[in-house]
Amino acid sequence: MDKAVRLHIIRFALAWVVVAMLAPSAAWAKMKIENEIKKGQEAVVEVEKESKVVTDPELNKRVNTIGQAIAAVVDEKRFAYTFKILDEKDVNAFSLPGGFIYVNKGLLDYVRSDDELAGVLAHEITHAAHHHMVQMIEEQGKMSKWMDVLNLAVIAVMMSSKGNTEGAFNVLTTLQLVQIAKVTGLGRKAEFDADAGAIKYLKRTGYNPAGMYTFMARLSNEARLRPDVDYGIFQTHPISADRVARIEGYLEEMNIPINTRVVLNLKSTVKSVQQNGREIGEVYYQDKLIYKTDPATAAEVSDRINRLLWANLKTYELKLDKARNMVVARNIPIITPTPQDAALNDTTIPDLTARAYAGLRQALYSEYVKNGLSQR
Ligand SMILES: [Zn+2]
Repeated sequence: MDKAVRLHIIRFALAWVVVAMLAPSAAWAKMKIENEIKKGQEAVVEVEKESKVVTDPELNKRVNTIGQAIAAVVDEKRFAYTFKILDEKDVNAFSLPGGFIYVNKGLLDYVRSDDELAGVLAHEITHAAHHHMVQMIEEQGKMSKWMDVLNLAVIAVMMSSKGNTEGAFNVLTTLQLVQIAKVTGLGRKAEFDADAGAIKYLKRTGYNPAGMYTFMARLSNEARLRPDVDYGIFQTHPISADRVARIEGYLEEMNIPINTRVVLNLKSTVKSVQQNGREIGEVYYQDKLIYKTDPATAAEVSDRINRLLWANLKTYELKLDKARNMVVARNIPIITPTPQDAALNDTTIPDLTARAYAGLRQALYSEYVKNGLSQR
């Protein structure tokens, strides 16, 4: 080959390398983001062709208030995150590239608190904010490209495809993209990252990140046990115990205590009733009558129970102090029947104490059963 021509080729190749090195960042990044949004918008049309969007203002307000609070604290701010409710009864939520997030009506019925809903939304926001769909497609693309070793054209494509999501996305149809988002999922790595990211972002909001744990743990335990709930995708692809354990680990690492009662707002309550012409207070927990006394004492008993509950009271800490006729936990007397209480309940003090103790124990047991959580 002519020396001058060869030199020319080398110079040309060098110029390409320089262009490839200089061109990226800002321009590529902008194109990448715009393309993600464009693909997401195409998928939005497909999703809303398949399912009806719920317009109920109250429900939308709830989802939007929580969703926007989280969207405001994520690291990726170039998306205008939107939240819509689909009129579908199975428990599911998903997000499309570009920050279009959907929650099924069935999921709204299933969550027990705003903290749990915040956990679900934060997980979906993280999928979009961390560009999981693009990453998944790019990774699969790279793997197949490495098969053609020494194909210079492939190397050129790889160089230029660093920020080229158009190329990556083109391997998928909009329908396939929707299918991955709604049903197939983005793979274990992306799910773990979305769980960890969700906890990180929730910590920046007023929502309790432990809500994510209670939701996932319940879903993982119940998905095959409750015929009254349509678990949809979780019926065939249940959330693994491994994933729940990891969420627990992330919370521990970030020093976030898991107190199910705080997340689910579980409290004992006092009901005012009339008995023989006078007002009395009945203390309930988990729909079980624990104690019946005068209204002021009932309020005090309920308050003591709640403070212990929210300080993570365990069933084994509950003691029946027969010598002093008291129900006690952590050396704190919870219920101390008086002769008046015994008369009101038509029994003896020792019997009333034993009944209160048994009632509270049963309530704690039923609490664990209902929440599908093991006693920690
Ligand atoms: Zn996910």
